[in-house]
Amino acid sequence: MHLLIDDVQLWDGTGSPAQSKMSVEARDGRIHWVGAASQWQGNRATVRVVDGRARTLIPGLMDCHVHYSSPGGPEWIARFTDPLPEISMRAIELAEASLRSGVTTARDVGAPQGVSIRLARAARAGEIRAPNIRAAGTWIAHQGTYVSFARQFAEADELRNAIRAEIEAGADLIKVALAGWNEGARPKDAPDIPFDKKLLAMAVEEAHKAGFKIACHANDPTSCRIAAHAGVDSLEHGMFLEASDLVAMEKNKTYLVPTMSVWDAMLYYSRVVDWPEARRKRAEDLRQGSRAAVTAAIKAGVKIALGTDAGGGAARHGRIAREAELMVECGMEPGDALIAATSNAAKLIGEDERGTIEEEKIADMVLLDANPLENIGGLRMIAAVFQDGRRVA
Ligand SMILES: [Zn+2]
Repeated sequence: MHLLIDDVQLWDGTGSPAQSKMSVEARDGRIHWVGAASQWQGNRATVRVVDGRARTLIPGLMDCHVHYSSPGGPEWIARFTDPLPEISMRAIELAEASLRSGVTTARDVGAPQGVSIRLARAARAGEIRAPNIRAAGTWIAHQGTYVSFARQFAEADELRNAIRAEIEAGADLIKVALAGWNEGARPKDAPDIPFDKKLLAMAVEEAHKAGFKIACHANDPTSCRIAAHAGVDSLEHGMFLEASDLVAMEKNKTYLVPTMSVWDAMLYYSRVVDWPEARRKRAEDLRQGSRAAVTAAIKAGVKIALGTDAGGGAARHGRIAREAELMVECGMEPGDALIAATSNAAKLIGEDERGTIEEEKIADMVLLDANPLENIGGLRMIAAVFQDGRRVA
């Protein structure tokens, strides 16, 4: 069946302004025709017509930082160590919730035991209702730091092996986590961050040599310094980036994925559940750091791609609109927040056939009962979600 979204305001993600009274026809999963509604030549009896009046059509949204293996919420880290059958079943539900919120492509940047790789395959095979998923497999971190269920290394050779193992397991990209020592794990005279500049350079080289992108978790000042200068494809979180880091990122074409939903959710939980003061304080520090970093990154011309960290940092799934709102609060124009969630995200993920509404591209689109260019919160007003030219929500 062919699909015609008729007489709609079109924001196509290319950077052009929105155009009113447009129509978009999809055939066999791809965008077949885009033009003025009055110019459409087809036969209405043979297409499924969707009324676009007083609505806005945008490309399918992309969330560059999710973890479908955890639901988020106040105990998000504990949820990663639930029994594997529970994690797997839940991941399927969460991916569907994400799709319903308009996310047609997602990057799952870390799951225990490679659950995300299996999930991505099921999505690709059409076995489940889910976004098109690019999975990082399991996080790679230095022993004694970060979470216990990451793939751990101590020596340089083990780091190389860990990257190769993720690639062999079917990962679509590599995710490394720079972090300080866990309490009690720090050997005498060890540096703050054991996953240092030299090791990160090796990880970047190993991933790129194999043709894979590498995403790097950095949410403390030292990690931000190391990651910003390393030539990684994306720096995740980046709450403590400074001016010189942003210059390096712009030069290295490193994307910033700010994941502001993390502290936004943490601040909420610190009010409604019984959290220790230290956690509330941490959320407050992240908020301040992140706002300054994102505002400075916009000014410095650093490329920004949207990522919520749903599941991985207290934020729950299906709330992509909130992340876009936070971007706008940091000084982004609504159109630029949409670019971060569509065409810029596509470039970061390496999805050449998605991210814009243009003829020949894959027909992933979201229809809104609102104009998100006037009010970015309009991303919540979903009338329909189309994936590969089929209505899925
Ligand atoms: Zn994360």
